[in-house]
Amino acid sequence: MCFYDQNRMACGDYKWGHFRQHCSKEYRTGETCGMRLVMQTIEIGDKCRICQKIDTKKRSIRKEEEKIKRWNRESGRRASIEKAEEDIYRLQQEIYNLECERQSRQHQLW
Ligand SMILES: [Zn+2]
Repeated sequence: MCFYDQNRMACGDYKWGHFRQHCSKEYRTGETCGMRLVMQTIEIGDKCRICQKIDTKKRSIRKEEEKIKRWNRESGRRASIEKAEEDIYRLQQEIYNLECERQSRQHQLW
């Protein structure tokens, strides 16, 4: 077991930080073992990489939705609306995948 810092991100997710200390078992070999223990928890002001990506995609969805609303009041915009709806669908899939990735990461850590 070796000791690491743990970063607590603004979104509530955790991320491993710097390596701090070997455990007595691994001390002589100078290598780190697979088991990680928390030395200290550090609060980080940023969201984790995955949550940042999710936020960006959610913003893109909102933009597309606003465009659709505007286009609905105009004529001859059917094709543009369909294209935007496809984009929204794709973004939602990507968000779903990122949320799955985020969850499996949390399980790894604990
Ligand atoms: Zn996060």
